[in-house]
Amino acid sequence: MTQKTDDLIAFVRSLYGDEFIPLHRPVFNGRERDYLVRAVDSNFVSSVGVEVNRFEDMVADYTGAKYAISCVNGTAALHVSLILAGVEQGDEVLSQPLTFIATCNAISYTKAKPVFIDVDRDTMGMSPSSLQAWLTANTHQKDGHCVNKNTGAVVRACVPMHTFGLPLRIKEIADICKAHNIVLIEDAAESLGSWVGDTHTGNFGALATLSFNGNKVITTGGGGMILTNDEALAKRAKHMTTTSKIPHPYEFVHDEVGFNYRMPALNAALGCAQMEMLPQMQAIKATIAKQYQDYCAKNDWNYVHPLPGTKANYWLNALCLDDLATREAFLKQTNTAGVMTRPVWRLMNELEMFKDCEHDGVANAKWLEARIVNIPSSVPDAQIESLTL
Ligand SMILES: *Cc1c(COP(=O)(O)O)cnc(C)c1O
Repeated sequence: MTQKTDDLIAFVRSLYGDEFIPLHRPVFNGRERDYLVRAVDSNFVSSVGVEVNRFEDMVADYTGAKYAISCVNGTAALHVSLILAGVEQGDEVLSQPLTFIATCNAISYTKAKPVFIDVDRDTMGMSPSSLQAWLTANTHQKDGHCVNKNTGAVVRACVPMHTFGLPLRIKEIADICKAHNIVLIEDAAESLGSWVGDTHTGNFGALATLSFNGNKVITTGGGGMILTNDEALAKRAKHMTTTSKIPHPYEFVHDEVGFNYRMPALNAALGCAQMEMLPQMQAIKATIAKQYQDYCAKNDWNYVHPLPGTKANYWLNALCLDDLATREAFLKQTNTAGVMTRPVWRLMNELEMFKDCEHDGVANAKWLEARIVNIPSSVPDAQIESLTL
């Protein structure tokens, strides 16, 4: 038990109140109920409801992506994106050791193998210098493809992830992927509302994916989205997520094995209402982040800031502690006090199913794994009433 942590707990309580404080919880203070009732009354509660198209248009407008294709969840969005990138059995897909399991599950669904490239300590996202180093040491170009010299497999795609909504060095990653003929898919599940300069995350590669799970920046209950600026990919994405059915007035004709991955209208109805509130929720979350930053600067806590020139959505605020022992003590003390905190994920390359996958030593990811914790980051109850339409 340390006084310093007790003081931080008191500070978190000054933001969030005396009850149990979750890490992140959804806010439904907009037109959620109205839109849900409207969807129910329309009878079109499944994937042909008008809400689905409307939600897609809202997300496309907000992110600046030309096309947005809704999915049942973020994992499904990743799965389809990997297939659209041409990933096949036996291919290799570059990703990061520090991510949520969904990224690697989706890669596994395609029967490709993940290869884990280290992250930068400051962004907690894929490191351009580690990516370049691994590609230079292990790959060569053959027939317009990037081939792993050791395994003979094609390195087909690269899936970096904007950790906790902090934008990674995505422009550099995009340049490297382009130079090596690797398709870039941004896992932007955590970064709706995060920007690099004037460009929203998810616009730097061929494809990107979002998640609207209950713990994310906005939620549809469960849901995901594929973003792309390529019309052909967008059409393929819509086709594949809707059982690959050929449009016809009454006949059922399907031209390939497709997926029933399209978002139901009930979920999209929730999403439309959430999108209307997103800018205001973002403003409040930025204020909370600023308060944490000021407190941390004054009280010797190492807050993890977004890179200069980027704007984070502050989905989850993160602290970098001194070492593993400090982290364990911190987690225990805060959670015992009813202030929910969590460690960063276990490294993917240490999990049973991925322990034989190739990696580059992942030194920074290991360093971060021992030190990073998330602290409560929701829109506080007291400020929910200030949200208006
Ligand atoms: C949430 C998340 C996903 C997708 O999750 P779903 O629960 O399937 O919507 C994918 N990648 C990352 C990094 C995530 O945090």
